[in-house]
Amino acid sequence: MYSKILILHFPSREVKKPVICHLTKYYDLTFTILKATILPRKEGIMVLELSGTKKNFKTAVQYLKDQGVIVKNASQEINRDEKKCIHCGACTAVCPTDALSISRPDMYIRFDKKKCSVCELCIPTCLTRAMKIQPTSESFFE
Ligand code: SF4
Ligand code: SF4
Repeated sequence: MYSKILILHFPSREVKKPVICHLTKYYDLTFTILKATILPRKEGIMVLELSGTKKNFKTAVQYLKDQGVIVKNASQEINRDEKKCIHCGACTAVCPTDALSISRPDMYIRFDKKKCSVCELCIPTCLTRAMKIQPTSESFFE
């Protein structure tokens, strides 16, 4: 499974077209919309996580470009929402790099971002959805 976070810029004339639905219908991709905004001049910006086979992914990106959509690539990082973390420790069992670890004796769950490999294993493990993947920067998608 190939998965990436993309930043899509829709020109105003393309905003109302169902191009995102076509990614599922014609290219068998799944997507999660992380952010969507319509700017004052009616252009749209959408940040979405797109998953599927690499071949379908590349064909779909070409389809988006053919529709006039500017496609940018986003680097990703994992962040913890401190308000949501209840320090249950479940994520420490799956973290392969020790980025998430138990501090004793207070049993505080430490998150050392420098050790994080962005493998995403902690995301489905966390019942409170405290662990999140987020884009850090953008560059044009080749
Ligand atoms: S699984 Fe979620 S709530 Fe539990 S310690 Fe890890 S980040 Fe916090
Ligand atoms: S993304 Fe992977 S390496 Fe980073 S904290 Fe989560 S489980 Fe650990």
